[in-house]
Amino acid sequence: MAPPDPLLRVQDLTVRYGKIIALQDLSLVVAAGEVVTLLGANGSGKTTLLNTLCGFLPAASGTIMLGGERIAGLAPHRVFRRGIVQVSQGRDLFPDMAVIDNLRLGTRGEPLLEKILACFPRLAERRAQRVRTLSGGEQQMVAIGRAMMSRPRILLLDEPSAGLAPRFVEEIGSIMHLLKQEGGTMLLVEQNLRLAASVADRFYILRDGRIVRDGEAGELREDHQAFARTYYL
Ligand code: ATP
Repeated sequence: MAPPDPLLRVQDLTVRYGKIIALQDLSLVVAAGEVVTLLGANGSGKTTLLNTLCGFLPAASGTIMLGGERIAGLAPHRVFRRGIVQVSQGRDLFPDMAVIDNLRLGTRGEPLLEKILACFPRLAERRAQRVRTLSGGEQQMVAIGRAMMSRPRILLLDEPSAGLAPRFVEEIGSIMHLLKQEGGTMLLVEQNLRLAASVADRFYILRDGRIVRDGEAGELREDHQAFARTYYL
């Protein structure tokens, strides 16, 4: 069941790249404190949706409401200020600064910082190391930690486990659980169904730019292999 009073409400959203329709009449909601996962095969429109929510792509039609305010058409920095934060896969990190200084940038949340470091022992060990010298997976963790430190109203994660070894995937899972415990709201795009099912409350499945199914994450947990066969192949 969709929540009655959502933090984020997307209604009849259509997004095009020229003649290509990437999203068509897409509607979804995310309530405050909810973790929603967006699933679907390659090219189904997941990244397009996240980029549209952030203001990087224009909507051809439809509305996007955050906390009752229309945000479709706002420039990305204005959307960011309203609290929609996308994890950037390391792109907005400062490579010559230490891990700890990247995490602290723009925030004063030391208790949260300690919790993040407790979740990412690998980062705690490397707190004084320059980000430039970290592995790709470690940089991904810093990027997620850094986005969490800004205490977003809603955090958008685009395949945080992509290309990571199983041990890193576990750590990404535990940091998402931490954020959830803290009352954080997330929209998570993930190919790893097991990871998505373990942290999400609800899911939507996209196919060719349309939502073809939605439900409670418990359904995914029961049989994620059947979901993968049906919707990813
Ligand atoms: P993946 O899981 O492979 O990352 P996705 O679900 O995130 O896929 P999108 O990247 O949103 O899918 O792409 C949706 C559709 O829009 C695809 O058909 C893609 O080819 C098309 N598309 C994406 N970006 C562009 C672009 N810049 N110009 C033209 N078509 C694009």
